Amino acid sequence: MTRTITHFINGEQVAGTSGRTSDVFNPNTGAVQAQTPLANAAEVDKAVAAAKAAFPAWAALNPQRRARVMFRFKDLLEQHMDELAELLSLEHGKVVADSRGDVQRGMEVIEFACGIPHLQKGEYTEGAGPGIDVYSMRQPLGVVAGITPFNFPAMIPMWMFGVAIACGNTFILKPSEKDPSVPLRLAELFMEAGAPAGVLNVINGDKEAVDAILAHEDVKAVSFVGSSDIAHYVYETGTHYGKRVQAMAGAKNHGIILPDADMDQVVRDFLGAAFGSAGERCMALPVAVPVGEKTADEFIARIVPEIRKLKVGISTDKDAHYGPVVTAAHKARVENYIQMCADEGGELLIDGRGLTLQGHENGFFIGPTLFDNVTADMRSYREEIFGPVLQVVRADTLEEAARLPSEHQYGNGVAIFTRSGRAARDFAASVQVGMVGINVPIPVPVSYHTFGGWKRSAFADTNQHGPEGVRFWTKIKTVTQRWPEGDVGDQAFVIPTMG
Ligand code: NAD
Repeated sequence: MTRTITHFINGEQVAGTSGRTSDVFNPNTGAVQAQTPLANAAEVDKAVAAAKAAFPAWAALNPQRRARVMFRFKDLLEQHMDELAELLSLEHGKVVADSRGDVQRGMEVIEFACGIPHLQKGEYTEGAGPGIDVYSMRQPLGVVAGITPFNFPAMIPMWMFGVAIACGNTFILKPSEKDPSVPLRLAELFMEAGAPAGVLNVINGDKEAVDAILAHEDVKAVSFVGSSDIAHYVYETGTHYGKRVQAMAGAKNHGIILPDADMDQVVRDFLGAAFGSAGERCMALPVAVPVGEKTADEFIARIVPEIRKLKVGISTDKDAHYGPVVTAAHKARVENYIQMCADEGGELLIDGRGLTLQGHENGFFIGPTLFDNVTADMRSYREEIFGPVLQVVRADTLEEAARLPSEHQYGNGVAIFTRSGRAARDFAASVQVGMVGINVPIPVPVSYHTFGGWKRSAFADTNQHGPEGVRFWTKIKTVTQRWPEGDVGDQAFVIPTMG
């Protein structure tokens, strides 16, 4: 008997009623381990109604009381870290240590949200004119929603609901149907932390639920993270319905290796950043750009034996460097890209296809794969693969190397490896990418800074978390008040100035 997953509406687990469900796999074995309901518009409406009812009281609560819920939630996350990480590993396929990182990075956004009394303060100008003061306040939007991808089922929901709810909004989370259990568990723990019923609701589903959220007139803002075509669709549809939308999307991040780089560090960093979590990270580093033939030859010579030593194992194997990919369909997609790159003329130095693990023959495993001599015109380079595949694109000069990420359709993250401060500084200033690492392979900004890419990696005016997150989840109101002494004169027919 497979487990049946529920929704979480108004503080309670609620069974799906649409009649449609989706399989949740154990990627280690390939077996179906649960069924998740796929919500219809009526179920979304129920969740929105619960959130709408909860909004006035939650928004009126003073900010330090909202912060206290966040503090307690953070404690509960720490207490339940092992449980959450194991649950996450069994649905996603990332190894348990990496799952802990997923929960930890989300928890750091909750820590940021604990500062909401300070973060949500407005501004004040005393004496903007005679007897006139001006002040602004940041007010919550109302019912808001988050739609999240499979690859960070703890961190990305917390990027969104952590900040949105701390600001006084109430929330509908629509997690990925591929690994819905951790988001549901987060909602239960959030209630346990003292959040009133209806403040955080989880609706499981697919396009039907997403469309219902986008069209719902009571949903005021939508944050989305996922693949680019769907992100673009969500952005266009949500804004068409007059909502505030931010839609973070796909990626193809480059790591540029200058001749003066510390090659020991570079090899270590690429192993983790290209193959960790089976390459299923939007900040993974799937393209290496060594500058100069000598750098490229050394990089290849040094990384090949290290790649051969990587251990692919089940997600609960403590010695495994990475586990299976999320579904059989995703495995087939990645393997198609490997074939495509080989057909396009990429030099396949290590082929990870056909990997099977004894006792787990039906698991969704792909061995680490390495291509040399990939070129910018290849489709397999231009598109996101999202698997354990590293493509090496050789460049003769730093200028030529730097053009690659700048001219690529995606602009999420980029890294440069060098000992030259000057080269790194110039590169960081000029590259057309949203997040830059200097000798840092996965430059995911800390929670009190802000996360977001450029070009087809984000359809958004504001980023995730940090002060930009507070701006996204609030609207500003500016009050001009006059408490004059005596007669203000006959100025009623001209535009007021503070002369
Ligand atoms: P996805 O686009 O398939 O799914 C994302 C969400 O959209 C899910 O909740 C899903 O149910 C929903 N969805 C699926 N099909 C839909 C449709 N036709 N209409 C409306 N909604 C739909 O993405 P995924 O495979 O879960 O996640 C991987 C992708 O996410 C990669 O492209 C990765 O780069 C990207 N990602 C980006 C960031 C970032 O911040 N830029 C972070 C993590 C992941």
